[in-house]
Amino acid sequence: MLSDLLSSLSSNPYFGAGAGLIGIGTALAVLRRSSQYGLIFFRRQYMITLEVPNNDISYSWLLQWISHQLRDSSRHLSARTTLVKNDDPSSRIQASYTFVPSVGTHYFRYKGKFIKVERTREQMINSGVPFESVQLTAFGQDRQIYIDMLEKARDAALLANEGKTLVYSPTINEWRLFGHPRRKRPLNSVILDKGILQSLINDVEHFLSNPYWYIDRGIPYRRGYLLYGPPGSGKTSAIMALAGHFDLSISTLNLSQGTMTDDRLQQLLSNVPEESIILLEDIDAATVGRHYEKEDAIRYQGMKPLTLSGLLNALDGVISTEGRIIFMTTNYIERLDPALIRPGRVDFKQYIGPLTPYQVEQMLIRFYPQSTSEEINRFAKQIEDLTANYSQPISAAQLQGYFMHNKDSLNDVFDNVKQIFRL
Ligand code: ADP
Repeated sequence: MLSDLLSSLSSNPYFGAGAGLIGIGTALAVLRRSSQYGLIFFRRQYMITLEVPNNDISYSWLLQWISHQLRDSSRHLSARTTLVKNDDPSSRIQASYTFVPSVGTHYFRYKGKFIKVERTREQMINSGVPFESVQLTAFGQDRQIYIDMLEKARDAALLANEGKTLVYSPTINEWRLFGHPRRKRPLNSVILDKGILQSLINDVEHFLSNPYWYIDRGIPYRRGYLLYGPPGSGKTSAIMALAGHFDLSISTLNLSQGTMTDDRLQQLLSNVPEESIILLEDIDAATVGRHYEKEDAIRYQGMKPLTLSGLLNALDGVISTEGRIIFMTTNYIERLDPALIRPGRVDFKQYIGPLTPYQVEQMLIRFYPQSTSEEINRFAKQIEDLTANYSQPISAAQLQGYFMHNKDSLNDVFDNVKQIFRL
């Protein structure tokens, strides 16, 4: 019965043509599927891929290294421009450019193998910060080729960064390199009152060289520092110089800027880059009983701004095997809750105040190395009188600005002292 039906269908010319088309379609679909499976199988068996997302520390090193490998072969590049600010307000802001492979596909040869590079970028819906990644594909099964490349990229980056301090700043939930690495700030370019910088250096040194003291006692291996005092007195500069001296990077967070919430701070502090000083600026921004203003509601899109308990939790959560140094700064120590500066959270407190006579002398010598002891005393006396007459202290930043304004002549420095308050 079934065979009768089939033979009558196949003798029908319309049905025969339709079946032929269906047959060809099916065959093509099967072919396509199997070639897809074949490709997947081939990729799995004979190709090796590596994906590096942009939140991985190697990402920017690798991009830079790849752009070097591509040399002239790729004409699709993206530019990264960094403005280099100079301490001298009269000098021009300089720009520096680096090129990295643009989003898309590129190829280069490494150790005789073709490497395919696919750089992708997606807009993240929640954060608005693009997520990027770079994927490398090569023939073979040996992952050593990627380890090799990552190490080469790292070495090249370290070499390029020798003598520099890397500064990281946060995006929404993660850290990114902020601008180009900066030249290390020499310790002797920061002039604090007598002995202060040295005692900070000694303390950090002691902390970094005694991990077992903490480990043996089951104490989290971290140390908190608080530098407090008026703006422009050298708190941030001292921390930059310490980072340079100990070859550490800085991961910096200003708690009074942007939209900091408890969750965001927790997330950021739990994934700070390795070998990095955590710098929390303006920690007074998280105070007890802070009012939740109307503007906050708009700025924070309904989320609650950082609270004191959020800050305490985030600080206590900073645990690391390699020794975490946390520097906090504030212009208003009186606004800080005692819980924030108790030992364990802050182990070393230091006031960095307005200029003392010692600093005035040292700064003059640094800017005008030829000055005689008579000139040094004369200038120190001028500054002493000026502060007394105006009942106003002078910050190191103000004096630095004044020296820069009169950098060509020590005579001008003596003649124009009143300018200090006007700059
Ligand atoms: P703070 O963090 O205390 O507000 P900064 O370290 O940001 O001050 O200093 C601001 C500017 O003033 C910088 O350009 C820095 O070079 C200069 N400066 C401030 N204090 C000192 C200091 N003690 N020694 C040398 N330069 C200083």
